[in-house]
Amino acid sequence: NLKKAKVEGKGVLNNRISEYILTNLSQCGIKTHFVKRLNMREQLIKRAEIFPIEFIVRNIATGSLTKRLDIPEGTLLERPLLEYCYKKDELNDPLISREHIYSFGWATEEEIKYIDKTTLRINDLLTGVFRAVGIKLVDFKIEYGKAWNKDTDKKEIVLADEISPDTCRLWDVKTEKKLDKDRFRKDLGNIIQAYQEVARRLGIVPETTN
Ligand code: UDP
Repeated sequence: NLKKAKVEGKGVLNNRISEYILTNLSQCGIKTHFVKRLNMREQLIKRAEIFPIEFIVRNIATGSLTKRLDIPEGTLLERPLLEYCYKKDELNDPLISREHIYSFGWATEEEIKYIDKTTLRINDLLTGVFRAVGIKLVDFKIEYGKAWNKDTDKKEIVLADEISPDTCRLWDVKTEKKLDKDRFRKDLGNIIQAYQEVARRLGIVPETTN
């Protein structure tokens, strides 16, 4: 009973927004799988072996957190809350603890230590990027993988995901208007307009060719 639909033009916007954000993060020293955007709909990325884990960061309580633990919607979290989910569609990506990750060998303690630190740094950087354009970063999901680094001839952990209004909750600072996938999930309408608004505020100009 998962809600599905094709929203015209959303992929193109996500491609641009994700390019913008991953480029920005790279410039701040975060290693990512992103190489370059090829055209309106495609990007070149490094091949990565993905950890079967979703890393979720929350700054404000909403969504599954409020339901699971009966936390009031909109509660400002005193510090970012990091959650792990096991990537398994058949099970609806269940919440897991760090111990599950180590028990089942989904990642090592050393890898998780590095990923957690990187994830919190990404949260700090993105919070600033969005805050500067009047948007609150409520929560988001990212994934990591191991990719070959040509220069060092070693595998390294890289951010291996898109970052877009499909994977983040973004609220307007003043009105708390939702500018993300919740417009679809909650039938709020104007999905494309909201994604365009995010792109416009970030200074991403529409592309007519390519
Ligand atoms: N999220 C995602 N993909 C998923 C699950 C979650 O991008 O498969 C994002 C979601 O958009 C939100 C955050 O992770 O920004 C936290 O989601 P939550 O656990 O509240 O689940 P939801 O209510 O979205 O089902």
